Amino acid sequence: MAVLVGANTRTYKFALGAALLDAAAEGQPDILLRDLAVPYAMGLVRHLGQAPQVSQNGERGEKDFLSVAEREAAESLRLGSPTEELLAAAIQSMPEMVMRKFHNLRGEGAGVPHRFYEVTGRSHERVVLLSRELRDIAQSEQAATLRGELSARWSIVETSFAAGIGQSLIREGVAVDMTTLQITDRQRRRSVAGVTDAVIGFQHGPCLICAELITPEDTIAVDHVFPYSFMRLLRLDEQGTTPDLDAIWNLAPTHARCNGQKSNRPPTPGEMTRLAQRNEAIMQSPVPLRKTLELTLKDNKHSSSRPGEWPRFIQHVRDLL
Ligand SMILES: [Zn+2]
Repeated sequence: MAVLVGANTRTYKFALGAALLDAAAEGQPDILLRDLAVPYAMGLVRHLGQAPQVSQNGERGEKDFLSVAEREAAESLRLGSPTEELLAAAIQSMPEMVMRKFHNLRGEGAGVPHRFYEVTGRSHERVVLLSRELRDIAQSEQAATLRGELSARWSIVETSFAAGIGQSLIREGVAVDMTTLQITDRQRRRSVAGVTDAVIGFQHGPCLICAELITPEDTIAVDHVFPYSFMRLLRLDEQGTTPDLDAIWNLAPTHARCNGQKSNRPPTPGEMTRLAQRNEAIMQSPVPLRKTLELTLKDNKHSSSRPGEWPRFIQHVRDLL
């Protein structure tokens, strides 16, 4: 949730999340801040070459860590490790900035219930204590899923920072390419992230059909919760619109075996509840996934601001059958 939810004006949080997962996977209870700063800085520098790491309207000063990273990117990539200037800037900015905000969620005073780390020691040799919770998750079988979610989220956010497409993504939300199961922007139709990686975190791990955990050994399928074939069975509602079943709101990662056994049946009450909860969770995340769902509600004449609208909308679709 630290990675999925929360406003982003820059992508520091993702670089820190990736560096923390790698450090904690080693199993050591602590790491020198300077050692954690290396993968953190290199993660940002690698992404800088692919997409902007700051929003178009984000203000930026000379001392902004990203300004330093941009200046030092080429040389750091050539060296395969951060330049001295980049490393010094990372060590200086991390505890004051990204490490202070990492546990925060959207909303006043909201935060994740665990601490993943604590920074101790003096300024010239600070130590990052990695919490039990962080080490447990980094060494669990869920770690691979978390890494996938993190990189999908990173990609969605940096795409929404890009000139041109970024604005369209924020205004119009995302589309889905059902052939490749990729989320795309509506303008260029280029891949932004995989559907599964982008939304599975909002289901908190379980398969939408059987409600059992999806593990890395499981083959995953993206299920149409209301089967796509129902499109022609849906009666027009009073407004003359039919909901699009090929869209994020109706797509959910499941075990491939559960998806295979499901066939063309309407969703069960349990599935409808889980889908509504998943969509309500996405509504708590920042643009553009939230925007996509808001537009679905709006296009179907449902309120996009009233809480609890997803159960009502999903029941409404069921009633159209
Ligand atoms: Zn299942």
